[in-house]
Amino acid sequence: MSDDKLSCESCSTETCSAKAKTQGETDKDFKERQELARRMCRIKHKLFVISGKGGVGKSSVAASLAISLAKLGKKVGVLDIDLHGPSIPRLFGLEGADITAVGDSIRPVMTDQGVRVMSVGFMLRSQDDAVIWRGPLKHGVIKQFLKDVEWGELDYLIIDSPPGTGDEPLSVAQLIDDADGAVIVTTSQAVAISDVRKSISFARQVNLPILGVIENMSGFVCPECGTRTDLFGSGGGREMAADMGVPFLGAIPIDPGIVPAGDTGELPVYLSGSSAGAQAFADVVGRLVATVEGK
Ligand code: ADP
Repeated sequence: MSDDKLSCESCSTETCSAKAKTQGETDKDFKERQELARRMCRIKHKLFVISGKGGVGKSSVAASLAISLAKLGKKVGVLDIDLHGPSIPRLFGLEGADITAVGDSIRPVMTDQGVRVMSVGFMLRSQDDAVIWRGPLKHGVIKQFLKDVEWGELDYLIIDSPPGTGDEPLSVAQLIDDADGAVIVTTSQAVAISDVRKSISFARQVNLPILGVIENMSGFVCPECGTRTDLFGSGGGREMAADMGVPFLGAIPIDPGIVPAGDTGELPVYLSGSSAGAQAFADVVGRLVATVEGK
């Protein structure tokens, strides 16, 4: 069914917040909120991938989750709202891809695995362009993404937010009030752990359920001899999750194969392999699907 045929007025979901105007809401704002709700209600599960600090592998995890879910036969979309450093196009090998507009809608870019991808990176002339966005403008851009992108029917929308607890995760949490929850990516080091506690508090403040913590770069398994070395420590994410009373989804080791795969858009090939990292991703995805779909 095209989005035009979907109408909030004829929808039988009584609990949807787009059913009625809120106090003080203008007609324009209400109409936009309904347009956004019409797109979002065709998506079964909306997941935010967040982290307390940059460089912990959040975008790699977001992209890998999307690819792994698609491999399980799910219809998946990825929305990259990292307005300052969008890395999703690179991770999917889609740098320089053109996006097309149909009427008032923007079409996501489709990967060979059938993952639909939308990123602010597609709007930049060059990946090196600096983008200066002020807070209210950021909110407007994110709202437009959510309202205008024609995702169609999806099982999962994975939303890759910038690190920290700034404007972007706040906007998207406010705009999608029926998200399944947040997946929090951390590493084991104490500094990352202390930042990630702020992410957990943030999610709680905006009523975003926490689906679980993934500890990335957790130990190094030598591909030659299989010996495990805890280069940056390990177990911190699991301990922190237990301490904060949130589920632990699993640990992904440091894997030298991830870096070139991410740099050349070859993550699907990497994830189909038998490395310790690829197997760890498969375990994490299994736990995540059980958590989300078993609710
Ligand atoms: P973030 O989104 O948190 O800033 P990225 O996903 O961009 O982090 O990852 C940062 C770097 O770390 C990238 O070069 C990526 O390939 C690498 N990386 C991510 N996870 C792993 C891992 N488990 N093992 C080895 N390198 C990793």
